[in-house]
Amino acid sequence: MTFKRILAFLVVAIVIAAVWLVGLRPQRDARLIARHWTPELTTLAPGTLFARWLGTSAVLLSDGQHAVMIDPFFTRPEGLLPLVLNRPIEPDEARIRAWLERIGVDRLDAVLVSHSHYDHAMDAGVVARLTGARLIGTRSTLNIGRGAGLDPAQLQLATPLEPLTAGPFRIEFIPSRHAGATGGRPLGNIDAPLAVPAHYMDYRQGGTYSILIQHPQASVLHHGSAGFEPGALRGRHADVVFLGVALVGNLPRYLDEVVDAVGARRVLLTHWDNFVQSLEQPPQPMPVVVNLSPLFDYVERHRPDLDVSVPVLAAPIGIGAGPLSAEMPAS
Ligand SMILES: [Zn+2]
Repeated sequence: MTFKRILAFLVVAIVIAAVWLVGLRPQRDARLIARHWTPELTTLAPGTLFARWLGTSAVLLSDGQHAVMIDPFFTRPEGLLPLVLNRPIEPDEARIRAWLERIGVDRLDAVLVSHSHYDHAMDAGVVARLTGARLIGTRSTLNIGRGAGLDPAQLQLATPLEPLTAGPFRIEFIPSRHAGATGGRPLGNIDAPLAVPAHYMDYRQGGTYSILIQHPQASVLHHGSAGFEPGALRGRHADVVFLGVALVGNLPRYLDEVVDAVGARRVLLTHWDNFVQSLEQPPQPMPVVVNLSPLFDYVERHRPDLDVSVPVLAAPIGIGAGPLSAEMPAS
């Protein structure tokens, strides 16, 4: 092949890939998601344990009296370029307040953080301060809390495999691994109170955990990053798994080590949305790093025993026992 032919071939290949990624794939993924929405609760019986997915791996769990929030991330600094350039960022307190009000949260028992990357942890300190919650996580997470001006009495270090309680919730941090493709970067720990504005890359991972949250009505596993520590979850039980699907490597193995290990049949997908977009816009699948089509193909073909769905942003999802009334959302 001549040089010109090779060049022409490359140009055509790049154009096809760009059209696919920018145009066709998002449309296909949107159709796929629309077929797999998690049924939304239309009536909330008092005392029923329910969840709300709040973008990325942010989840609220509440029984109406007591509530915990995992990985809150409302600020969502916009655009990929500022991230690539490692520009300064800080929690947007007005936006956080507005979202807490929108979902009816003025008090939380605890804020739990799976790892300290900015898309899981940057708002955790402010949310804990605004809701009077304890912030529970690694040393790195607690330094984010200190930077947010949190009272030292509200900081609780999570010791791996040592259960702790928050209201009726029994919480256990189980060592896990970050999804592999990025190498878990930025690595290392946040060793001092993190003053803001800070840079994206200042939010160092600080270790990654799967969080098992048991409530008298149901057990929930929050798995924020798509890596796993082989065998770490065997022998535990969860009814529902909130499963992070950004950068999934080997899907069958991932399902086996995280979902099957805890005997869950219900899987709610998280971290599938494009988090460099504001939470006020309808969630879109994250280009490149999230690929929902092979995931649903695999589940349909090989795992019909699993109920896998995509939560609707901020919609109440029935988790616990109670007179549940479920209905598909209108849109
Ligand atoms: Zn991460």
